[in-house]
Amino acid sequence: MKDFKIVKDNKKSLRERSVDISLPLSEEIISLGNDMLQYLILSQDDEYLKKHKNVRSGVGLAAPQIGKNINLLAIYFIDENEKENKYVLVNPKIISESTKLCYLKNGEGCLSVDKEHPGYIYRPYKIKVKAFDLLNNNEVLLELKGYSAIVAQHEIDHLKGILFYDHINKLDPFKEEIGAIAI
Ligand SMILES: [Zn+2]
Repeated sequence: MKDFKIVKDNKKSLRERSVDISLPLSEEIISLGNDMLQYLILSQDDEYLKKHKNVRSGVGLAAPQIGKNINLLAIYFIDENEKENKYVLVNPKIISESTKLCYLKNGEGCLSVDKEHPGYIYRPYKIKVKAFDLLNNNEVLLELKGYSAIVAQHEIDHLKGILFYDHINKLDPFKEEIGAIAI
């Protein structure tokens, strides 16, 4: 298990645009992607967290957060139906999004952000993402909605140098959007 040093939001590199990864994938990228996924899985293990006080629990990790400005991200969480949501995506692009919005009632968090940034972040409720799937070694078109769409958008934002709090309304952080789905 790689003990990644997470890049925090005071570093300029987190604000840079990442570059596409060339295909076919190199061994180096394949093992990096798998290490990122493993990092997330372990970060959700209570025993592991007890022994590694510097690790915070996370559901998504983008390559710029480990100091590599390349278009690679990992997502891992168990949803309310006990289903494992596990993705390692290369060069992900959002190709369509719903006009319907959603947001997390408790706001978003980020492994790169230690400070609290209270407020709602409204994001499209449904998205379609085109990417190369590192785990299955093929092109995929994913249709994501609700929580998984939020996580994917948060991680894809990292590849563009955007952080979650950039989306919070500065004047009215808890502004209500009519019709948006609370998650
Ligand atoms: Zn983040």
